Amino acid sequence: MESVADYFGSLVFNDKAMRERLPKDTYKALKKTIGEGKDLDINVANVVANAMKDWAIERGCTHFTHWFQPMTGITAEKQESFISPTKDGQVIMEFSGKELVKGEPDASSFPSGGLRATFEARGYTAWDPTSYAFIKEGVLCIPTAFCSYTGEVLDKKTPLLRSMEALSDQAVRILKLFGKDSVKRVITTVGPEQEYFLIDKEMYSKRKDLIYCGRTLLGAKPPKGQEMEDHYFGAIRPKVAAFMNDLDHELWKLGVLAKTRHNEVAPAQHELAPIFSTTNIASDHNQLTMELMKKIADKHGLACLLHEKPFAGVNGSGKHNNWSISTDSGENLLEPGDSPEENAQFLLFLVAVLKAVDEYQDLLRVSVASAGNDHRLGANEAPPAIVSMFLGDDLADVLDSLANGRKCGGRSKTAMSLGVHVLPDLPKDTTDRNRTSPFAFTGNKFEFRMLGSTFSVAGPNIVLNTIVADELSKFADSLEKADDFYATLSKLVVDTYTAHKRIIFNGNGYSKEWEEEAARRGLLNLKSTPEALPAFIAAKNIEVFKKFNIFTAAEMHSRYELLMESYCKTINIEAQTMMEMVRKQVLPAVVSYSEELSKSALKKKQLCPELACETEVNLVKQLSVLSDSLCRKLEELDAAILRVSGISEVEESARFYHNDVLSSMNEVRAVADELETLVGTKYWPYPTYGDLLFYV
Ligand code: ADP
Ligand code: MG
Repeated sequence: MESVADYFGSLVFNDKAMRERLPKDTYKALKKTIGEGKDLDINVANVVANAMKDWAIERGCTHFTHWFQPMTGITAEKQESFISPTKDGQVIMEFSGKELVKGEPDASSFPSGGLRATFEARGYTAWDPTSYAFIKEGVLCIPTAFCSYTGEVLDKKTPLLRSMEALSDQAVRILKLFGKDSVKRVITTVGPEQEYFLIDKEMYSKRKDLIYCGRTLLGAKPPKGQEMEDHYFGAIRPKVAAFMNDLDHELWKLGVLAKTRHNEVAPAQHELAPIFSTTNIASDHNQLTMELMKKIADKHGLACLLHEKPFAGVNGSGKHNNWSISTDSGENLLEPGDSPEENAQFLLFLVAVLKAVDEYQDLLRVSVASAGNDHRLGANEAPPAIVSMFLGDDLADVLDSLANGRKCGGRSKTAMSLGVHVLPDLPKDTTDRNRTSPFAFTGNKFEFRMLGSTFSVAGPNIVLNTIVADELSKFADSLEKADDFYATLSKLVVDTYTAHKRIIFNGNGYSKEWEEEAARRGLLNLKSTPEALPAFIAAKNIEVFKKFNIFTAAEMHSRYELLMESYCKTINIEAQTMMEMVRKQVLPAVVSYSEELSKSALKKKQLCPELACETEVNLVKQLSVLSDSLCRKLEELDAAILRVSGISEVEESARFYHNDVLSSMNEVRAVADELETLVGTKYWPYPTYGDLLFYV
């Protein structure tokens, strides 16, 4: 059997393929471009394109595509074949440097939030040579960034690359002050843990809500839920194991470092985590992972649900964004070091993140806001909607002792002094087993746990990189001027910690007490997407993105509009789907069952007139009362949707969807679910929660 090492990355035009296939000087020129993030010379591009094409054709490719990430949150591709006609009516296979580095998809139908009128359809995609080309289903895919001709950013990749650059520049400034002149670049790394559900494909196809919305809109609680906690880390069932094996196999061929897999808390829920990589690659790979999960599930007779809350009353799915910063030589800047200097440097980066998370709580919250994620954040599940940070007792103790000039953990005889003393060992295992914290320090990285499972990791990382770059730039401004470096540094660390320690919370994030305590501390609690989104265009937030040339004010406004609109559209589709299911499936089922009961009662009475037929009569009564109520609730929902269509302002309409439409949907659901518990199984029109969750 072929070993993993043999086929790992076999579908990627990676460094190994480049070294084998490119002339030495072309290889060197390309590596230089990748290393320095410069533009690719067209002569080099021609040679690279040709080699890439030959490599792809040998592997069965006939087409290539620029693979990009528009603001829809998923990836897009427009495939072109390699064919080029010859004079004698034949074709040859061609691929030029120009086609490699630049593409022109007709971009008119991608959401831009009003940035471009659709007649100005021209946008272009440009190769991001730091992310390797790869083969997906016989198509050579070139990872690209997507911009309009007037220079506006139309995707998630461009700002992500810019934010990585911004953080790198500022971190390099800081490292210079510590005498690390040789560091040319600093890299942000991400390891995203991906949660998902697997259910039977045939059952999936019988549910309109799953097909249109990705989540169930109706469904009574099954007799068994997740209360036994027998699924988490449980033995993986054969059908699921076969899927996982296939998935890993395909991911490995694509060079994705799929590493950990296990069952999650909810029945039918699972998780995959890769080994971390550079942020833009982690982002590309996570998109590929989500795409492959769906495709491979389908091949196995399964459906993969990536929605944040496919089932009410059962845990939803998130994505944990493990994030760190390291130098080009591989030094992790969030790893406490062994020497006093390294520790001082570590603490400086640590408080930069601390300050960023406190000052830009709102932006971090916005970066994880969506209709789907609203069912998790602030809804008593996974992290709360309040952004706070977990540091662990040991680290908090170190910072406290620095601030108060007292001994630390009884381990050193004198009070800790920055740049003089070595930090006490921070035992990694105790740093974090607090699963409720939205933003936790986990020994040598931070784990941002608020992302929804469908999210592109680009958005949250754009925010994270930019806000940390901002704090580092302010630190560098003051430290570069300092006469006594360590004294200034010491004061900076202590002052920052003191000013921002309100964001630190090591307790239970789900508790009512924390909500009250957070309010006292003045922390934000933005419970829903319509409440959170306006923060995106707050003056200070526009300022920070402008400062590092990540977004212009116009781009931010357009993104804001887009997010609000997409929220409204999502709820609208859900409401329409729910109405259709109730009208065309639930009510007819209730009527049929009632008819059957009535017939039965009549027949029995014919046979024995003295019978009361209580079973039938009571059920028919109950069903009749409930279905009348269901019809009324349905009319209310219909009316709410009609009202919202009259609102022209997007923020107002989003609030209306949240406050009125969603609550009206909940009322419809409550009655429909009660009916489900009464109607006979063979009459019920779609698979129940029990069928969906316990079948696979
Ligand atoms: P847990 O479930 O305890 O959070 P996992 O092992 O499932 O832990 O996930 C940890 C994730 O963090 C992995 O994807 C891992 O590669 C990633 N990770 C580890 N070190 C770093 C780092 N320096 N930068 C970014 N991610 C990291
Ligand atoms: Mg985790």
